[in-house]
Amino acid sequence: SDAAVVPALVIGTGYAGCVTALRLAQAGVDVHMIEMGLAWDTPGADGKIFANTTTPDQRSYWLRTRTKQPISNFLGFPIDKDVPRYTGILDAEEFGGITVYQGRGVGGGSLVNGGMAVTPRREYFGEVLPTVNPDEMYNVYYPRANAELGVTMIDPAWFDTTACYQYARVGRKHAQRSGFPFVYVPNVYDWNYMKQEAAGTVPKSALAGEILYGNNHGKKSLQQTYLRKIRATGRVTISPLHKVTSVAPASGGGYTVTIEQINTTGATVATKSVTAAKVFFAAGSVGTSKLLVKLKSTGALPNLNGEIGKGWGDNGNVMCGRANHMWDPTGSLQSSIPTAGIDNWAAGGTFAEVAPLPTGIETYASFYLSITRTPSRAEFSWNAAAGRVDLNWQTAWKQTSINAAKTIFDKINAKEGTIYRTDLFGVYKVWGDHLTYHPLGGAVLNKATDNHGRLHGYSGLYVMDGALIPGNTTVNPFVTITALAERNIEKIIATDL
Ligand code: FAD
Repeated sequence: SDAAVVPALVIGTGYAGCVTALRLAQAGVDVHMIEMGLAWDTPGADGKIFANTTTPDQRSYWLRTRTKQPISNFLGFPIDKDVPRYTGILDAEEFGGITVYQGRGVGGGSLVNGGMAVTPRREYFGEVLPTVNPDEMYNVYYPRANAELGVTMIDPAWFDTTACYQYARVGRKHAQRSGFPFVYVPNVYDWNYMKQEAAGTVPKSALAGEILYGNNHGKKSLQQTYLRKIRATGRVTISPLHKVTSVAPASGGGYTVTIEQINTTGATVATKSVTAAKVFFAAGSVGTSKLLVKLKSTGALPNLNGEIGKGWGDNGNVMCGRANHMWDPTGSLQSSIPTAGIDNWAAGGTFAEVAPLPTGIETYASFYLSITRTPSRAEFSWNAAAGRVDLNWQTAWKQTSINAAKTIFDKINAKEGTIYRTDLFGVYKVWGDHLTYHPLGGAVLNKATDNHGRLHGYSGLYVMDGALIPGNTTVNPFVTITALAERNIEKIIATDL
């Protein structure tokens, strides 16, 4: 164990962690970022940093010996396969009633996500973050987040003609024929790069199906945005393959942070102890909630309040596929980057994305990820006997999400004379209702913390990430997580340093 003192320690290197570290460093504070995943800066044996979606290998999953693909079946056949246990990029973390997918590595969820960068419609913001002033978010912090993340919209003329968005045009046609509002979904992917992919002049990424296990080109993950600026400050140290296991008040002030260094099989190779004046929890909704629940329950941080672990939601995620007629092919070439959406939030509580199914063959399938309004909220709790944190999510709670999604797809199926696919999530199973990509909550803003993320009970401890958001963002969450972190760190720097 080595001793060191740092002014600011940030747990996690996803959106919230990167915003926090960059703004602190720009304010002249030295920062230490701790990340349990890999750095993702070194090519593997195939010369590529990231594995392809259709050929998962050890890089693809976080400490699993078998893949757990979100779409588990094709034509009813299971498609999962054995892989060596390794600190790979995608964590399919299993709780009682739900599998929570998360990114692991320097860049967090930005390494694995679809890049869909959506600002909630202002009229719905009150149901996203009820205690935050919308004026400051929509005038300052959403624009700041969108600019830093490099969010742009597809060129509609190219959308209308390129083969790789045939599937999305079919999605648009079916939505509009049933009277649903169609929207383009902004993204952080470099659209000019994708055009060059289509022209065959650059190595393919989106057009090679890359997404879930990382994009080797084209996507502006945090590695290309915030992390580049973070490195340029010269004030931030990043420690990959280091996992925070404890935070407790230090006798001389500040906090003692216990950190386990792990190897690529997940085994602990060293335990370190760092004293930090301020600690920023940015380990993601699940990571931060698990840490805080454990620390409160085991006596390391007993003064955390009773809101710790509460208010967790799945952003109402539910997936489904539809089987189209032969005259509606969705294309054998599909860009893995979604850019088409159906906004039925006002009428049906559903924002559905037209998602790719990049199999390389014509499937006549339309595939959708719906974000829905759901009242269900779960709670994390400490399971002392097992020495782990549990989540009391119930699979049956997805029924409200299924019902909400059906307000769109039952109508489209009736109009088009089509049916749901039953072969993507098992045998005769229509709904992908066992998972979420969008964990939110567990240390809710203005409940577990004050209205700027300061944890109640301890000065100098902050929650910065998706754990602050009470379960639903009406759209994909990372722009809101980034904007909220920008808002909170600005206040913290102005008043707490
Ligand atoms: P994260 O980005 O999850 O970062 C947390 C980091 O902390 C991780 O790197 C983790 O390894 C690390 N960590 C956790 N615990 C510890 C610990 N104890 N010690 C050290 N490090 C730790 N959102 C969108 O808006 N648009 C999309 O298109 C989209 N698509 C998605 C697709 C997939 C497959 C997935 C999994 C997610 C997707 N999301 C999408 C969700 C989005 O990625 C997350 O909402 C976002 O990354 C959360 O940001 P965060 O800062 O809260 O935490």
